[in-house]
Amino acid sequence: EAKNDQVQEFIFRSKLPDIYVPNHLPLHAYCFENLSQFKDNPCLINGSTGDIYTYGDVELTSRKVASGLHKLGIQKGDVIMILLQNSPEFVFAFLGASFIGATSTTANPFYTPAEIAKQATASKAKLIITQAVYAEKVQQFAKENVHVKIMTIDSPPENCLHFSELTNSDENDIPAVKINPDDVVALPYSSGTTGLPKGVMLTHKGLVTSVAQQVDGENPNLYFHEKDVILCVLPLFHIYSLNSVLLCGLRVGSAILLMQKFEILTLMELVQKYKVTIAPFVPPIVLAIAKSPLVDKYDLSSIRTVMSGAAPMGKELEDTVRAKLPHAILGQGYGMTEAGPVLSMCLAFAKEPFEIKSGACGTVVRNAEMKIVDPDTDTGNSLPRNQAGEICIRGSQIMKGYLNDPEATERTIDKDGWLHTGDIGYIDDDDELFIVDRLKELIKYKGFQVAPAELEAMLIAHPNISDAAVVPMKDEAAGEVPVAFVVRSNGSKITEDEIRQYISKQVVFYKRISRVFFTEAIPKAPSGKILRKDLRARIAADLRIG
Ligand code: AMP
Repeated sequence: EAKNDQVQEFIFRSKLPDIYVPNHLPLHAYCFENLSQFKDNPCLINGSTGDIYTYGDVELTSRKVASGLHKLGIQKGDVIMILLQNSPEFVFAFLGASFIGATSTTANPFYTPAEIAKQATASKAKLIITQAVYAEKVQQFAKENVHVKIMTIDSPPENCLHFSELTNSDENDIPAVKINPDDVVALPYSSGTTGLPKGVMLTHKGLVTSVAQQVDGENPNLYFHEKDVILCVLPLFHIYSLNSVLLCGLRVGSAILLMQKFEILTLMELVQKYKVTIAPFVPPIVLAIAKSPLVDKYDLSSIRTVMSGAAPMGKELEDTVRAKLPHAILGQGYGMTEAGPVLSMCLAFAKEPFEIKSGACGTVVRNAEMKIVDPDTDTGNSLPRNQAGEICIRGSQIMKGYLNDPEATERTIDKDGWLHTGDIGYIDDDDELFIVDRLKELIKYKGFQVAPAELEAMLIAHPNISDAAVVPMKDEAAGEVPVAFVVRSNGSKITEDEIRQYISKQVVFYKRISRVFFTEAIPKAPSGKILRKDLRARIAADLRIG
């Protein structure tokens, strides 16, 4: 122990001073704290219909929804599932739940029925809010779980409620519940550094802190402000969009332009029409724009910031976009669902702007500590600048833990409160963070999570497969795609196509296995842990030959 005390700790903080964070407030109260300043300003613009909701409208409708949820029997601590594409109703449902101390678990409406059922079961969702086109996917689940109600935001199919049931309620009928800062408000699912997807408990306090770290304090223009029009094309069911687009936008009073899905022509039309100023993207969207000849046909000069996060972006791509959109500043942010999610952001708009380095993911957010831990020893020692190791973060923005999984929580947040990301990076002489590798299993297809453990479990369940491992393979359009190493059972002649189809039937499109490599054995450590590095190296070698 004594020796340990002498080990020097290298802890990094923001280049900006800490700020006051009102994280005693419930999330909705924090978002609407300055409402009177911009009550009549546009808050949500529905890109598909052109409908505009002011801040006053959004706050009022959210309170009606809160009252309606209560009438439906949703109580403090209960979970509702939001299974929607970006839409005003997504926002009303999320905020409405917050008002009554309920929790929203968000899921991708493209999920298969089995994937939705898994999350709805694990989170004990009592109400699923979705669209008529997706209602079929949850009918069976609701039949087997009679206490679960389904509601659609458009014309409801049989056995479903309609969203107007909530919005027609009396906004003054909200029950007086005491919301504690540690209560869970959002429950996105993430596989974290290992294993299956788990419910990530994000509290009122955590999300308030995270939003404040991005938009509050001495630097009101650090990220964005009241006059901005923010493009919300990234799906709100992912925490990046929910937090860094919606909640940050609400807090500062920006107009939030909702797009249901990414489609390049519509995107450019909307940018031009509404004079979008802030464009939060993921690398594949940045790539699509960089490659599109349409860019020159539209006036995109209103965009002052392009943000990219959720997956790595190469320097080449950064440079191409900078040349294509010369009016805009391009900055990367780095997030992880469990971290609340933002760990670092670019400070291009700070009062005294900092130079943005190509390839950097910005600097650690304010009111937080970051350290880089030596990955090669299990000493847990932190490393000085310019040395790569596992990125760890500490602060009140991080998750409370995984739902009903204290073991996984303990593996991720150590006893001193440090969250271990499973990402490898270093901090340079100017406090800029560079991510260089991913230690954890996670595969990212266009920023979407693919958990190898989930696919491996399906593969091993097949009678003709005796063992399997899933690892990422580099892909220009998607960043990464999952590929499988498969050991056939004795005598089996199962083909690559059969395996791919078998998986495709069970999963959302981005979890589909792109290639199958048959092998004699899966390399494993004596502990039974798959040696993923070896498999990744085999693929890299295969690609070089191929
Ligand atoms: P998620 O929880 O879905 O947001 O995924 C988090 C993971 O995405 C991180 O742990 C990183 O591996 C990766 N990631 C997020 N942002 C970046 C970035 N700017 N550069 C590289 N990887 C990133």
